[in-house]
Amino acid sequence: MTAQIIDGKAIAEQVRADVAREVAAFVATRGRAPGLAVVLVGEDPASQVYVRNKAKQTTAAGMRSFEHRLPATTSEGEVLSLVQRLNGDDAVDGILVQLPLPAHIREASVIAAIDPGKDVDGFHPVNAGRLATGGPALVPCTPVGCVILAKSVRADLKGLDAVVIGRSNIVGKPLAQLLLKEDCTVTIAHSRTRDLPAVVARADLVMAAVGRPEMVRGSWIKPGAIVIDVGINRVPIADGKSRLVGDVAFEEARAVASAITPVPGGVGPMTIACLLRNTLAAARQRLGAA
Ligand code: NDP
Repeated sequence: MTAQIIDGKAIAEQVRADVAREVAAFVATRGRAPGLAVVLVGEDPASQVYVRNKAKQTTAAGMRSFEHRLPATTSEGEVLSLVQRLNGDDAVDGILVQLPLPAHIREASVIAAIDPGKDVDGFHPVNAGRLATGGPALVPCTPVGCVILAKSVRADLKGLDAVVIGRSNIVGKPLAQLLLKEDCTVTIAHSRTRDLPAVVARADLVMAAVGRPEMVRGSWIKPGAIVIDVGINRVPIADGKSRLVGDVAFEEARAVASAITPVPGGVGPMTIACLLRNTLAAARQRLGAA
């Protein structure tokens, strides 16, 4: 079997086009565009690229983008005051504080300061709690993207054995909650899991969010499984150059799975697309237009 390659770029483009259409309708009825504020503290080069892309795609979807770039020396108190200001700003529907923050700023304090109704990253404990208890939540973007990709090849995930590898608050745990909502039977694996290959071998749906290059081997995968690879790992190649690989050994897994996401071009593009969806959802919710 050679797996179908799930084209995250094309699916993300579709999500963005849907959001742009709905934003136009929102503007027509509400008289203003949804607004997303992104806060970047420090000079982390990867974060700068993400923030630039977020701003570009936000305006391309017809929304307003507010960028706040602060020096690495900014204190936690200053970041918290900015968040409070954005919480009270009516033009701002979504607030995203780009992680990681410099070490002297506690991420948990900053996340907890964001109005849960504007928490478009879905990291606030109120949103995590609502996701876990079935309430109306803003859900973390990457996990939502993973589920959309899986459903692009199998609309109904009900009853599937799903294995999520990784238990972070931003990917693994919310992803497991979403799969539970899809009526999957969910196993969450992590660094202390015994015999990971055997756990993965049971899965109809494998979602890898580990951060270890090509850790999941093709021989672990159940024939016909759907594989969603969240990992983004830069590995060195010849001449001092590098390339991106996922957490799954792509060529090996492709020979066994029924469908698989590539890295890059799989989950990656979905994250910002889902951020735009969340911003629109937050704007509707705030204005009572849900
Ligand atoms: P974290 O480092 O926060 O979590 C990694 C998880 O993997 C942990 O739960 C850890 O277990 C588990 N793990 C580590 N080693 C092993 C192992 N040998 N066997 C089984 N499990 C293991 O990472 P994130 O969740 O933030 O990100 C995961 C990956 O996804 C990264 O490559 C990241 O770059 C990528 N990513 C991609 C995004 C995208 O847009 N495509 C967005 C966000 C992340 P334990 O808890 O026991 O330590």
